[in-house]
Amino acid sequence: MTFKSGFVSIVGRPNVGKSTLLNHILKTKLAITSSTAQTTRNTIQGIYTDDEAQIIFMDTPGIHKPQDGLGSFMNTNALNSIYGVDIVLLIAPADEKIGKGDRFIVNRLKEADGPVYLILNKIDLLSKEQLVQRLAQWKEMFDFKEIIPISALNGDNVEHLLEIIKSDLHEGVMYYPKDHITDHPERFIMAEFIREKILYFTKEEVPHSVAIVIERMLEDEAGVEIIATIVCDRKSQKGIIVGKQGTMIKKIRQNAQREMKRFLQVPVHLELFVKVENNWRNKQKYLKEFGYNEDDY
Ligand code: GDP
Ligand code: MG
Repeated sequence: MTFKSGFVSIVGRPNVGKSTLLNHILKTKLAITSSTAQTTRNTIQGIYTDDEAQIIFMDTPGIHKPQDGLGSFMNTNALNSIYGVDIVLLIAPADEKIGKGDRFIVNRLKEADGPVYLILNKIDLLSKEQLVQRLAQWKEMFDFKEIIPISALNGDNVEHLLEIIKSDLHEGVMYYPKDHITDHPERFIMAEFIREKILYFTKEEVPHSVAIVIERMLEDEAGVEIIATIVCDRKSQKGIIVGKQGTMIKKIRQNAQREMKRFLQVPVHLELFVKVENNWRNKQKYLKEFGYNEDDY
């Protein structure tokens, strides 16, 4: 039997379930998910390997209209990921009407290098009849190689999706060792854990303009010590993140620490600092400094 491998890009509007799908496939919490849009900032490569194939997934930040420096960076990154990959998966929510955002993306898909599949996600939220209708509407939008309805949340039909991807890949080498699930440095993943907890506990109050800088990650026999700074662009945000008598930052710290421990499988001691850098979102300099430079990913 020949071994197959290839690159698969996952694109779609924010909040359609891209990260949830990737997590389900990798059976681990790699890409963070949330009910607020735009949680994923950088392209995350998730690596799925079994006896027959290795699939390298790129979970992109959602494609949306740019509003500031960070937004336009995310857009470029997401759209570029349709080039040079073997397969493109467009994810769309089956429970929502086809909108302007979808048309925008579909238009760009004409430039994709490989076959484009439509993954209609969240089928757990609608009836069979509604799904049939939605399928018909999407069929008219684009010449998808195939439309695959799934529920990323409960895993419905995800195995089938994997089989289809595998059957479409060409013979190839194993790019990464079998046990690797991501090519991202651990620091990046640690920062994502912190950001996820901030978004989760502060809800909409703190927008996505916070950046997390891992200042230090030191490992010894006792475990890992991680020191991180949360950078926000307004003083009021700092107030929210710290909370009354530090209660909010304590919750963020404890919960992020727990996730880190689970992920790294060693004891973790996390220390958090919060600082204000005015208006960093629009300053390229900071985008680079904080690691959102396109050249890096
Ligand atoms: P992304 O922005 O495209 O990466 O979307 P996420 O993976 O972060 O998911 C956005 C939200 O949709 C989260 O609250 C998920 O739990 C939810 N979600 C994702 N897939 C499904 C699904 O199949 N069914 C339902 N009901 N919710 C889903
Ligand atoms: Mg995501």
